Amino acid sequence: MKHRVTLIPGDGIGPELSAATKLVVEATGVDIVWDEVAAGETVMAKYNTSLPDYVLDSIKENKVAIKGPITTPIGSGFRSVNVALRKELGLYACLRPSVSMEGVKSRYQNIDLVIVRENTEDLYAGNERMIDEDTAESIKVITRGASKKIAKFAFDYAKTEGRRKVTSVTKANIMKYTDGLFYEACREVAKGYPTIEYDEHLIDAMCMQLVLKPGDYDVMVMPNLYGDILSDLCAGLIGGLGVAPGANIGDEYAVFEPVHGSAPKYAGLNKANPTAMILSAVLMLKHLGEKEAADKLHKATADVIAKGSTVTYDLGGSSGTSEFAKAIAAKM
Ligand code: NAD
Repeated sequence: MKHRVTLIPGDGIGPELSAATKLVVEATGVDIVWDEVAAGETVMAKYNTSLPDYVLDSIKENKVAIKGPITTPIGSGFRSVNVALRKELGLYACLRPSVSMEGVKSRYQNIDLVIVRENTEDLYAGNERMIDEDTAESIKVITRGASKKIAKFAFDYAKTEGRRKVTSVTKANIMKYTDGLFYEACREVAKGYPTIEYDEHLIDAMCMQLVLKPGDYDVMVMPNLYGDILSDLCAGLIGGLGVAPGANIGDEYAVFEPVHGSAPKYAGLNKANPTAMILSAVLMLKHLGEKEAADKLHKATADVIAKGSTVTYDLGGSSGTSEFAKAIAAKM
């Protein structure tokens, strides 16, 4: 079957990682037509926006996109393309699996955790203002509707993937209304899934537990900001951001992207690790119904990393981004 997929190369290391990803996806034999569209810093001067309409139009037409990271300058009223995409396309669920791989150095082995992060509200919506010159406020909005929807996504995911437990993570002892509402929604949804264990943790305790006993956890569901922070913690457990994939999923559209950012200091050096974006493509292939190709790409990537002779600097090798990708393609 032929698929049309929007490809957003992104900023910094994004274009190199996108080229590597395209190469290995094509090597699976899946028939994909790439609709390549630019967003981010590179188009800012020309269109006076980092997210021109043609990007959204392309994703709306193709329904599926894969993107490289996009730089978000701090402050300066610059709207994050990532946040805007998630909002405009209703990508309410952010899925981030963290799974240990042989050959990736880490203090931990056998990590198998999945973060399901609510993607549309919470402090991450950036609803902020200056009250006066010396006072700023940020408004945290949590709704029952969005909380139930993400909880249902987490339980459905756990059920289809045969996982044992869902843990809901908040700071409801302090934010009793907002995070309290999130817990309430999760408890309500959990009742519909009697075969899946449900428990709750406060975000601070969760950070410690994940470092001490990561094997006690499975799928974790949480509001936006906690999900952002715990995603990087979990990426750390499996050896770093270079190997952590992600997906943003809504009712109609899905956008796949690595957890890491645009790492500007490595841009154009053929140095960055393409694994996170390649594993994001594995998630994308599964979403497209191409399970066989997804498994093949996942296995080839894992094999090349386990062998260790053609990997990037962060995995202890000296190969470039493109050599790494070529080795994966050759393996398939
Ligand atoms: P970053 O993820 O770009 O980099 C953090 C560290 O990880 C750096 O040391 C970097 O060199 C390393 N790293 C990241 N990806 C790597 C890879 N593939 N291979 C090897 N090393 C890698 O985070 P940052 O420096 O905080 O952010 C840089 C920019 O990216 C910012 O503008 C930020 O807003 C943006 N960002 C975008 C996204 C996205 O597009 N989804 C996500 C996070 C950050």
